[in-house]
Amino acid sequence: MSFKNLNLIPELAKAIAKQGYVTPTPIQIKSIPDLLLGKDLIGIAQTGTGKTAAFVLPILQRMRERFPRVPQTLVLAPTRELAAQIGESFTAYGEFLKFKHVVIFGGVNQGPQITKLSHGADIIVATPGRLLDLMNQGRISLKDIEFFVLDEADRMLDMGFIHDIRKIIQRLPEKRQSLFFSATMSKDVNELARKLLKDPVHIEVASQATPVEKIKQYMFFVDQDKKLELLLDLLKQKHLTKVLVFTSMKHKADKIAYFLQENGINADAIHGNKSQNARTFALNGFKCGKTKVLVATDIAARGIDIDDISHVINYDLPNECETYVHRIGRTARAGEEGTSFSFCAADERDYLRDIEKLIGIKIEEMEHKFHSEFAKNAEGIDAKPRSRNNRGSRFGGRSDRNRSQGRRMDDRHDHNKHSSHRSHNDSPRRSNNRYGRSYSNNHSRSDDSRSNQGSRRSDERSHHSRGPRRFSSRGGQRSNFRRR
Ligand code: AMP
Repeated sequence: MSFKNLNLIPELAKAIAKQGYVTPTPIQIKSIPDLLLGKDLIGIAQTGTGKTAAFVLPILQRMRERFPRVPQTLVLAPTRELAAQIGESFTAYGEFLKFKHVVIFGGVNQGPQITKLSHGADIIVATPGRLLDLMNQGRISLKDIEFFVLDEADRMLDMGFIHDIRKIIQRLPEKRQSLFFSATMSKDVNELARKLLKDPVHIEVASQATPVEKIKQYMFFVDQDKKLELLLDLLKQKHLTKVLVFTSMKHKADKIAYFLQENGINADAIHGNKSQNARTFALNGFKCGKTKVLVATDIAARGIDIDDISHVINYDLPNECETYVHRIGRTARAGEEGTSFSFCAADERDYLRDIEKLIGIKIEEMEHKFHSEFAKNAEGIDAKPRSRNNRGSRFGGRSDRNRSQGRRMDDRHDHNKHSSHRSHNDSPRRSNNRYGRSYSNNHSRSDDSRSNQGSRRSDERSHHSRGPRRFSSRGGQRSNFRRR
């Protein structure tokens, strides 16, 4: 199948050729013909599948030039980065057409966006909050919208945009073509799609349980306080050329980036607490190759579209298994190969179980010098809230009060022992009991950060004495790491 079979107008065919695309991706093959016929669509597709072109191309083909210009197309995206990226796609694919688009997002002065709007726009790409603000100020009218796209709907709901989305939908004309994309399909996502779409075509390019096939996935069992050293050791290998490191917490992203810089690795962090300018700066540095490692939180990383990310590293395992699929999908984009490394500590053991259940494979374990049998044999804490009774049994029937006392004790005395003792003397059962004392269900992430602070202190110590710098990197393609 070639792009010729999709009957795109010459202006679009020329733009695609300029992008270097030779064959359409599966989602493009499946969706473009129906979208050109004006049908509504629900697409279950991961990032990296070419879904942006799958909706931008047919919309550009169906739009008509109108004077004065009025917004005919509205695309809603959950993050500023994704909105900016979709805007770039309109620029690239629409290069030989005359339509104008404006990207609207919060966190920056609204002035320049209003100025652009006042010059006339055919297409608006927006995050929900700022769009609503401008609508309420009377700066944007949606009454002429004919094409509406809701991208990454699952993430929109995760981020709490549902009320904003409902308000926006109410202001759209009844007669329109609506497109709905989501990486996963939950009950809430399904309900939203039903409200929005009329007799939609259903397309699913890769099941939500199947990560992009070409990604080689490896698991490293490691204690929390050894993760920084492991990360540094991995990053010293030369074939890790462009690396996206994921962590669940904003302050941790900063700490990791700082630690790497201190150890001579060009790294930057991107997360929601940074200003839009700082985020753009970090992203551009990474895109152009000036920065080797970008440490990101999940939300900030939405919309990061960089073709040549060689490795994704999950410094923390996400507690939602679908997030794992999103994260590793940042490598192996556009048909390229890619690798993901994931660090699993004792308190993340059950996240790993959920992930493996979702993707339907056991992730290959990597042998390395920071290996922790304790982490490997731990049970982890349940990602989902457990009932009191269940928790009681998980924690050996101890009361909550005793348990939290136990946790404090463990924080002070026990946690580091875990890593040094490893599991030589600990049966898995005993590990689980100790583990149960060490963490509480609702505090998994803060406990995690506490232990990380501890680890940071120890890393700083070791940095000056026998720490990370001590580990020899053999460089090149050779590696300190072997598959188990
Ligand atoms: P997306 O899933 O929309 O984020 O797209 C992922 C990447 O695939 C982007 O970098 C696109 O430029 C690229 N891409 C989209 N369609 C094609 C295609 N037909 N051939 C090659 N690359 C593509």
